[in-house]
Amino acid sequence: MMRLFLLLLLVVSVWRMFRRFKKAPPLSKDRKGVTSMVSCDVCSLHIPEKEAICVHDEKGQVLQYFCCEEHRKQKIP
Ligand SMILES: [Zn+2]
Repeated sequence: MMRLFLLLLLVVSVWRMFRRFKKAPPLSKDRKGVTSMVSCDVCSLHIPEKEAICVHDEKGQVLQYFCCEEHRKQKIP
């Protein structure tokens, strides 16, 4: 009976470790800032989101991305 209990404990801990292992990669990607790429609305150039010029609406949501100030002015004078 004790062996069965130990076996169950082992299975549960391995299962939990496996779940944590499977969940970890997408979380660490988001939190450690692997830069997501966005494309300029004018020339479609791909740039890191951090370096892009963003245009937000009144709710603070990003509407458009631009690679440079000139392209932003081209779309939104
Ligand atoms: Zn551009």
